[in-house]
Amino acid sequence: MTHSADHFLDWLRDAHAMELQAISLLRSQIGRIESYPDLKARLQRHLAETEAQEQALKALLDRTPQGSSMLKDITSRLTAAAQGVGTLFSAAEVVKASMTAYTFEHTEIATYRVLIAAADELGDQEARQVFEQIITEEIAMADWLEAHIDTVTRLYLMRDERDLQARR
Ligand code: MG
Ligand code: FE
Repeated sequence: MTHSADHFLDWLRDAHAMELQAISLLRSQIGRIESYPDLKARLQRHLAETEAQEQALKALLDRTPQGSSMLKDITSRLTAAAQGVGTLFSAAEVVKASMTAYTFEHTEIATYRVLIAAADELGDQEARQVFEQIITEEIAMADWLEAHIDTVTRLYLMRDERDLQARR
């Protein structure tokens, strides 16, 4: 393989690992949120998208023997990393979850910008199309969070002041 193809595969494998992490993060957040139905519904929608993203990246990795052999290793490493996620939040849990989600989406956007450039350099149109589709979903999710983080924070404060269930 050329150096470029090597880097591409490396970044693709990282992106696949990132989406696996996204799936466990989203599942954990969806499972815990109770009093913020709009946020919960949007995360649910993005979980469905993320599951499809993971499959699409896996299909790209499976095109080459080097790519598919790297999958197992990553999957086992990530399972361990993902287990701590649910315990990260305590007080103001929903606010922290929103911040985490917002940060995560921007990491994803950066990842796909890199992959789009690399796929383009390699003339890999199939991969490029997959990344273009995915980045659209990541930007939409980031935009939604951008637009709603203010409301979630105010709602949290308001509920907490009134001793309503606010945390989740
Ligand atoms: Mg994603
Ligand atoms: Fe995402």
